[in-house]
Amino acid sequence: MSYAVKEAFLTLQGEGVQAGSRAVFLRFAGCNLWSGREEDRRKAICQFCDTDFVGTDGAGGGKFADAAALAEHVTALWGDGEERRLVVVTGGEPMLQLDPALVDALHAQGFRIAAESNGTLPATPGVDWLCISPKAGSEVVQRSGDELKLVWPQHGIDPAELERWDFAHFLVQPMDCEDRETALDAAIALAMERPRWRLTLQAHKIVGLR
Ligand code: SF4
Repeated sequence: MSYAVKEAFLTLQGEGVQAGSRAVFLRFAGCNLWSGREEDRRKAICQFCDTDFVGTDGAGGGKFADAAALAEHVTALWGDGEERRLVVVTGGEPMLQLDPALVDALHAQGFRIAAESNGTLPATPGVDWLCISPKAGSEVVQRSGDELKLVWPQHGIDPAELERWDFAHFLVQPMDCEDRETALDAAIALAMERPRWRLTLQAHKIVGLR
């Protein structure tokens, strides 16, 4: 199959358990919870998105005819060195496009694959690090993985319910919204009240990385 990539670039992972790790970010175009167009935001299931995932016009983006071509593109972005290659597959919703052929092609290039999904689609087998970020109003079918990242606050989500899911790490991240201070206070309060949760911040935004 072919793949539509919004952008792809080398950076440091900014959030979550693997924050600070060198990684190629591979951002697929498209999401199943919002069209990505501002005029549709109010009626979308997910309304707080801070990401442009529309089209293939970003730096390093484009259309790739097959898995091998995309894996080679990711490898070129990583540059020299075969040690600890890491690709973070995100979106939009990456499970709309990440298929076994691409998993195999990236593994063949020596990459570990971290994926960040909204959990409404089953995760593609073979992903090495799975982060699920649930969105209120959606049906999460992927309830196991490595990292559950809760953007907070979200009305309609009960952290106690999420704690029954099968994840190794539970992270709470303040929502990037107009009222950031209130969101940060809410995230800190949750981590203080429920010790299972750890606070994670979007370090790439704090230090000015992409
Ligand atoms: S699920 Fe993720 S990518 Fe999709 S609209 Fe929400 S925040 Fe954006």
